[in-house]
Amino acid sequence: MNPAEESRGVNGYRPEQPIGLPPIFSWPLKPIRSIQWLLTEFLFPWGFVFIGLAAISWNYLTPNIGETGGLSIGFVGLIFLRNCCLLVVVAGGLHWWLYRKARQGSDYKFSKRWMSRTSPRFLWRNQVYDNVFWSLASGVSVWSAFEALTLWAWIKGVIPQAHWTGDFLYLTCSTVVFFFASSSHFYLIHRMLHWSPLYRSVHELHHRNVNTGPWTGISMHPVEHLMFFSMFFVWWLIPTHPTIIILTGFFKGLGPAVSHSGFCKIRMGRRSLAAGDWFHDLHHRHFEVNYGNVEAPFDWARGTWHDGSEVAKKEMVRRRIAQNSTGIDGHAE
Ligand SMILES: [Zn+2]
Ligand SMILES: [Zn+2]
Repeated sequence: MNPAEESRGVNGYRPEQPIGLPPIFSWPLKPIRSIQWLLTEFLFPWGFVFIGLAAISWNYLTPNIGETGGLSIGFVGLIFLRNCCLLVVVAGGLHWWLYRKARQGSDYKFSKRWMSRTSPRFLWRNQVYDNVFWSLASGVSVWSAFEALTLWAWIKGVIPQAHWTGDFLYLTCSTVVFFFASSSHFYLIHRMLHWSPLYRSVHELHHRNVNTGPWTGISMHPVEHLMFFSMFFVWWLIPTHPTIIILTGFFKGLGPAVSHSGFCKIRMGRRSLAAGDWFHDLHHRHFEVNYGNVEAPFDWARGTWHDGSEVAKKEMVRRRIAQNSTGIDGHAE
């Protein structure tokens, strides 16, 4: 590991640079740097992995609609099974590598703490079991139901269709735009979830995880899953192709396993792979900052952007005191 690249605080790994706006929001425009960021930092590697996986899934891992053309239990069930298996591979694989085997120890780990096995906040007092339960029982169920319904509607011609043969440019552009639209949708529903009654009855379940792991990603209350995966219904209005419908599920269902992994990077020999999202990790620590993602910077516009620096932390505390706070305490480490 390059020591100059690492910043080990007493509390864990900290990226050396404060989190800034991506170059696509620079003024004057920086087109070359923006394209470079899009292809080598934003979409690489996980965006491309999910796009490839969506193409494979549509061609080989999606059941036929059946002779009757109805939305059968078998059709939904097979999609549920496929998504379950993929989440077990992605979240389970990351958990096995980073936590069970602890192959890189605490290197690049944001928090010094590990998954709790004693806290009464979690089902069976075990954070991992709790997270697995909510992810599979509720998360994959809602994800698969919405995906199956949208795929069925596309196949039956109920919703607008586009095809790679005739609409290649449109579908390529909409694949890229999808990531930004999905992050904007996340900001909107997440902001609603922090409305006090919804927070206490619904979103609190996800926030029990102050330090996160791969299974925390879609460990949410069923109502939050309904809101979170409602992104599928955008495709009931905008023409699309099943690969993008499936990609919607993978980005929202598998992506959080990576972003919540708790490790900034995964060491692969002498190289490392981008993993955890420091911006969202700060949201889990402090609650009232970073509701969105850097690629849809509503937090920047709304004054809730926390760049991970001490200056931003002091500003957050000052803002809390000024607002007389909300009664929800942050768990700053
Ligand atoms: Zn989260
Ligand atoms: Zn939240």
